[in-house]
Amino acid sequence: MTGWTAAVRRCPKSMLHGPCAGVGAAGACEVPDVGPCAFLNVDAVDWPYEHPGRAAPPWRATKPPVVIADVPAAALDVESLRTVGALLAGSVDAGLTGDHGLARVQFPPSYRVRLLAEAGLPTWAGLNCRDRNRVALEGEIAACIAAGAAGLHCVTGDHPARGGRPDAQAVFDLDALGLVRLAAHRGVAVSVAHAPATPPTAIRLPRVLAKAAAGADTVFVDHCGGPSQVTDATAALRAAGFGGDVIACVPVVTDLESAQVLLSFAAGLVPAGYVESVLDATDRRAAGVAAAVELCRAMLAIPGVDGVDLSGGTQPGREIVSAEALAEIGRAVHASVCEPA
Ligand code: SF4
Repeated sequence: MTGWTAAVRRCPKSMLHGPCAGVGAAGACEVPDVGPCAFLNVDAVDWPYEHPGRAAPPWRATKPPVVIADVPAAALDVESLRTVGALLAGSVDAGLTGDHGLARVQFPPSYRVRLLAEAGLPTWAGLNCRDRNRVALEGEIAACIAAGAAGLHCVTGDHPARGGRPDAQAVFDLDALGLVRLAAHRGVAVSVAHAPATPPTAIRLPRVLAKAAAGADTVFVDHCGGPSQVTDATAALRAAGFGGDVIACVPVVTDLESAQVLLSFAAGLVPAGYVESVLDATDRRAAGVAAAVELCRAMLAIPGVDGVDLSGGTQPGREIVSAEALAEIGRAVHASVCEPA
């Protein structure tokens, strides 16, 4: 048994292609009381990933950048999805439906795609391996595509111990890479997450390249510090030969509620002083919108970056306020950097 195989057996999510992005800054597993992440001390020779070093093909630099926004709709709420979708439609290119630790019970991804499409918003549907086995995921992928999904974002997903439904049995029949294999080559974009600042950082690039080799054509670069760190991560992806789209996550904070949500998963991974400057402003909304637009411009000026994802979240009751701010940011970014339609 190699060190890697032993780590897979110890991992609470049985990840064949670990480690996940839930590794804490000090190396702790995302699941409480497990101790260090099982993959941290595996020898490099046991990694199942090839190291980068291929020639870089040119990426498509002539197309207009893409602006995607997390969809801040309330869970299990048809009217909220329709209202938020209508607010974002026309202001951003697509809405990303993701996962929220305190709202684990959601409509199926394909139903959210359908509702948002009816509101005029193309959807990039988030799929995770926590709640569905490979058979259910295969059906969900087909349903998302039939409902008109613009893309499928494939992640392993947080362990249920981390969030609002710790009573649920974890599935993890697949991990993100296995999910990519199911979703790829079906006529829609397939994206994955890249966490270059999350330990063990040495394995992050080979791991995301393995996801690309499995069929992912789009990489979302998670919060990892700011434009300098995204520049390095993107340059490394391009130098390693990744020719698909690179989407940089941009933190959005427009009030105390959104700041609290962002810091719950990205503390220490956003530009220094970014959140504080918004919270210290007299008009937090205006300051937050301006800061996000400026950061989007900086990200889109990075060679090799194809788009941004307006990332964050909000708290119950603030969904409309959040969607309005995201729409304003999307319009401003499009107006300043995108080609006219
Ligand atoms: S941090 Fe993630 S990959 Fe590492 S042991 Fe825990 S669940 Fe597995």
